Amino acid sequence: MNYFPIQYDEPLFRPPSEADSLILQVTFGCSWNKCSFCEMYTSKTFRAKEEEEILREINAVAKLRPDIRKVFLADGNPMVLSTKRLLKILAAIKLAFPKVRSVSTYSLPSNLISKSVEELKELKEAGLKLVYVGIESGDDEVLNMINKGETFAGTAEGLLKAKAAGIKLSVIVLNGVGGLTFTSQHAVNSARVLNLIQPEFASVLVLSFPFGIDRYKQKFRAQYIPMNIPELLKEMEEFIVHLELQSTIFRSNHASNYIVLSGILPRDKSLFLEKLQSAVNNPKTAGLRAEWQRGL
Ligand code: SF4
Repeated sequence: MNYFPIQYDEPLFRPPSEADSLILQVTFGCSWNKCSFCEMYTSKTFRAKEEEEILREINAVAKLRPDIRKVFLADGNPMVLSTKRLLKILAAIKLAFPKVRSVSTYSLPSNLISKSVEELKELKEAGLKLVYVGIESGDDEVLNMINKGETFAGTAEGLLKAKAAGIKLSVIVLNGVGGLTFTSQHAVNSARVLNLIQPEFASVLVLSFPFGIDRYKQKFRAQYIPMNIPELLKEMEEFIVHLELQSTIFRSNHASNYIVLSGILPRDKSLFLEKLQSAVNNPKTAGLRAEWQRGL
């Protein structure tokens, strides 16, 4: 059996695009851990990993794999750590892996707000190139219903700070998160916040219910009206119609997505809309993933 010198505290999550990265747990769980739809870290109590342990792991991995080029800091929101602590970790990564070209992590908008632009610039200079932010929605009412602890204004403020520091942004929106009652405002205001932020990357996942829909209904702070596939696709369509992005790589190609969209906005906007309209009108023939076609 291959020896790997990191003992992960599972469950462990990373974005699909970090499949080739060294995953380094610098915190455990999520310091917020209250979003209605999220079960990722409900089994963990948030805590920071001991600094000595992190440094020991970095140096142990470097002995085996000094050629590591990408590192992803886990778990849910390591940006809650102090800048001083993050800088120490980034310096150790740089020293141990001379070829490293990108360190990335998850963050909440409020974690970014709590740091100054100067601090964020220091982190960027130390190697933090990309932050993934699950904003879920740009609509204040929906954000409140899902207990996200964030707002449209806070999301824009936090992400624009990171952008001003030169950190790239990958933003995730959640299709169907507000249910049928809030679908239109969710679509329009999520597009509005992205238009303000102009992230380098944007993706859409579809709300799923790992512990069943009843649990989500209980946690949603209003009546949650589930959406069928055409309604989810129409929400996507409304969202994309309202997007005014200048240069964003856009993807909806996660396992949860009913239709795969992958391209650059604004270049592929018409193509995306054609695909979505065609799928809404002819779901059995229009590019829905085979597993979803069977369910129609
Ligand atoms: S902030 Fe992210 S990781 Fe934390 S509970 Fe919400 S969705 Fe889950």
